Amino acid sequence: MRAVVVNQESTGVEVIEKTLRPIKSGEALVDVEYCGVCHTDLHVAHGDFGKVSGRVLGHEGIGIVREVAEGVTSLVPGDRVSIAWFFEGCGRCEYCVNGNETLCQSVKNAGYSADGGMAEECIVTADYAVKVPEGLDPAQASSITCAGVTTYKAIKVGRPQPGQWVVIWGAGGLGNLAVQYAKKVFNTRVIAVDINDDKLALAKEVGADYIINGLKEDPVKKIMELTELGAHISVVTAVSKVAFNQAIDSARPAGRVVAVGLPSETMDVSIVSTVLKGIEIIGSLVGTREDLKEAFEFGAMGLVVPVVQTRPVEDAVAIFDEMERGTIQGRMVIDFRKHKCGCGCQH
Ligand SMILES: [Zn+2]
Ligand SMILES: [Zn+2]
Repeated sequence: MRAVVVNQESTGVEVIEKTLRPIKSGEALVDVEYCGVCHTDLHVAHGDFGKVSGRVLGHEGIGIVREVAEGVTSLVPGDRVSIAWFFEGCGRCEYCVNGNETLCQSVKNAGYSADGGMAEECIVTADYAVKVPEGLDPAQASSITCAGVTTYKAIKVGRPQPGQWVVIWGAGGLGNLAVQYAKKVFNTRVIAVDINDDKLALAKEVGADYIINGLKEDPVKKIMELTELGAHISVVTAVSKVAFNQAIDSARPAGRVVAVGLPSETMDVSIVSTVLKGIEIIGSLVGTREDLKEAFEFGAMGLVVPVVQTRPVEDAVAIFDEMERGTIQGRMVIDFRKHKCGCGCQH
């Protein structure tokens, strides 16, 4: 089967022919339909988290179970499942048991510490592969597997109440989905902040009540005008120290700032105003299996619609080049389907 792997020098990706080992107890073999390409894949390909030459990339995989090994009771052949960044936890530690399984210290991540979904086939740990509900387009589901669940969870940990003010910082791939979850699932009032008018226009289209271009007006001042006391919840997807600082400065007393984007800088937090305003700053990392199940359900209900563009596997190297050059608009999803006519034939 064809697989997109980290190249030998760990400078990028290559497409190779690969044969998977037989599945073991507790595992399932999945025929991958689609796998999205994410900035995290670019970091892995470049060895930014340590070199993993030969590793099959991909943590936004969706596919159909072909075969299950002995001991598997959670899946049957024919089930549509996801291959997510949270590939497997130990199932026993305090994080796994307390509903924070993504923080498990023995975690495996698809496309990094385990072979991922950017291939025609993938072996998954059956109990950790989340089922995709009926009625959700599999190419769109690939985007919910990463960006969708990440933003859904980030808003959720901010504990929003209907009608509260939620500010989404960064209106790109993550931010666009965050706007949709905040508006349509959590029923909040949503302000999107970015420095790109096209992304802001898209945010408005998918439900943002207000949009602010940070280059044209002061977001903190504008948020204070709109909300009186500031944002109840800020979700920062922007990879920008400025956005993090502005999110803290525009937080309402007892407000919550949820950090999702990963700029390699530090934020400037005034201890005095954090104490006096009772602000919480919360880091949020992807989502648990339960979070993903919920995020999928809202997609299946049509409340959240990811914008994706499918490309053939032959384009894999080009997609990574485009991503590196920053020329990609929207979410690129690689189509790994072998029988594209969709009739179930073997052609
Ligand atoms: Zn991702
Ligand atoms: Zn654990």
